Amino acid sequence: MNKFIYQDHIVRKRFGQNFLNDDFVIKKIISTINPQEGQLLIEIGPGLGALTQHICKYTNKLIVIELDSNLAEKLKVNPIFGSKLSVFQKDVMKFDFKNLSFKNNQLLRIFGNLPYHISTILIFNLFKNIGLIKDMHFTLQKEVVDRMVVGPGSKIYSRLSVMTQYHCKVIPILEIYPKSFIPIPKVNSIFVRLIPYDKLPYPVIDVNLLNYITTIAFSQRRKKLKNSLSTVIPLNTLKKLSVDPELRAENITVSQYCSLANWLSKSLKQTQEQKYN
Ligand code: SAM
Repeated sequence: MNKFIYQDHIVRKRFGQNFLNDDFVIKKIISTINPQEGQLLIEIGPGLGALTQHICKYTNKLIVIELDSNLAEKLKVNPIFGSKLSVFQKDVMKFDFKNLSFKNNQLLRIFGNLPYHISTILIFNLFKNIGLIKDMHFTLQKEVVDRMVVGPGSKIYSRLSVMTQYHCKVIPILEIYPKSFIPIPKVNSIFVRLIPYDKLPYPVIDVNLLNYITTIAFSQRRKKLKNSLSTVIPLNTLKKLSVDPELRAENITVSQYCSLANWLSKSLKQTQEQKYN
């Protein structure tokens, strides 16, 4: 197999390595993130430092998480970063964001041009720590951002749409074309800003139950709700909550999913109380 070498680095496709090489795009990303001294900034997948080097001009402290040991080593020894950079050579999926936030007693500002093959699962993982996050700025596959922002009634409306819109305000900032990266990817990208809500528009009692209901509904998205949710929510309850049982997962709003999750929380609590009384 042919090796692709960029800036003396052998590109590893399996790590989703497409390096940004477009000054206009880089400038736009940096100015949107607007890094400030004293903030707890964390970059996922810094790679060869296309964003890192600019962010470091605005702050004395930047934490980066890079899986590729060759790249992590290059970052560690690069004199332009000096002591500003804390490099974690780690899989971001195993990174302890909670510990980092508690140790610094600060909310996290997370950003990165994410490796596409892990981006959706990583975002779901970050939602588990959403209370620790001030904001997130990511370059993602366009198709992923399209799914994040779309409303009900669309074929691409999914669990990612519901959970993202439950937790965050989603603001797509810039479309990025394949030629802005080396090597050139096959897909378009979007740089997006995600701001966790201070006050959730549709709060739920237990977010795990919202995860649970959306998982069940969307894993059988072609079924009507009266069938896909039949084991968790009775038909009468769907009607009582103004959720048409004849509809499918893709037709239900975030607010309706939240009502279903809250009904389930209360119903489980009642069942438990009856058991112990
Ligand atoms: N930020 C650089 C840029 O924009 O040029 C590189 C972006 S590249 C799309 C993704 C980066 O994430 C690569 O450097 C890759 O090695 C790194 N990466 C891939 N999987 C990772 C993981 N599980 N944890 C941490 N970093 C990872």
